[in-house]
Amino acid sequence: MSSHSAYSASDLVVAIDGPSGSGKSSVAKRVARALELRYLDTGAMYRAVTWWLLDQGIELSDTDRAADLARHMPLRMGLDPRRPTIHVGDVDVAVQIRESRISAAVSAVATNLAIRAELVAQQQAIAAERGVVIEGRDITTVVAPDAPVRVLLTATEQARLARRASELHGESTASAVEATKDEVLRRDSDDSTVARFLDAAEGVDVVDSSHMTLDETVRAVLELVEKRTGITP
Ligand code: C5P
Repeated sequence: MSSHSAYSASDLVVAIDGPSGSGKSSVAKRVARALELRYLDTGAMYRAVTWWLLDQGIELSDTDRAADLARHMPLRMGLDPRRPTIHVGDVDVAVQIRESRISAAVSAVATNLAIRAELVAQQQAIAAERGVVIEGRDITTVVAPDAPVRVLLTATEQARLARRASELHGESTASAVEATKDEVLRRDSDDSTVARFLDAAEGVDVVDSSHMTLDETVRAVLELVEKRTGITP
């Protein structure tokens, strides 16, 4: 890595926000690998809280009870970008948290402000340890507003729906796109009431991936890292 940077490469925090289907998880993982940083998927944390509350039969609308339980949840995030892991206690929840029942319910957890405060504090503690690429909805604005590299990854609604449809249903036909609308558009609309990720806050660089391949998008983010910090892979 470049040695003449004002920033230490191993302590670098790269903050990436974006709506559903913008490709931020794939991009963030690849950027973390290229820069030998850790990787934190904050959406997975909200999903894990949702899984845990539902597993225990908690009404998500009981916001005080839900927040109290979330504070005591034994959540363990594995931050290796080659093999990120997520456990609640000893249970590996990586597969369950991607189920559509979790996607349908997660906004109820994400709009619980006491749960947000708890997860933001955990995310900030991870970022304070050493370098990490963090992706989510409020990273550039709330979790790491002072990060030297802050990126909003966007894509047109059409591109985001097509991507999610092929991820979830293995195809991007008209009916698969229709089935994906709740997963993308309704969720973003609910989530945007508590986090700003549909437009860039001041000082945040926008990367529009609508017409870019994954490789091109990763390269664009790495170029921003170099521009902002002088650090290169
Ligand atoms: O990124 P992903 O789709 O896995 O995120 C799941 C949910 O977690 C989002 O729909 C949103 O409700 C919530 N979230 C959030 N703040 C973040 C990351 C995710 O509210 N920083």
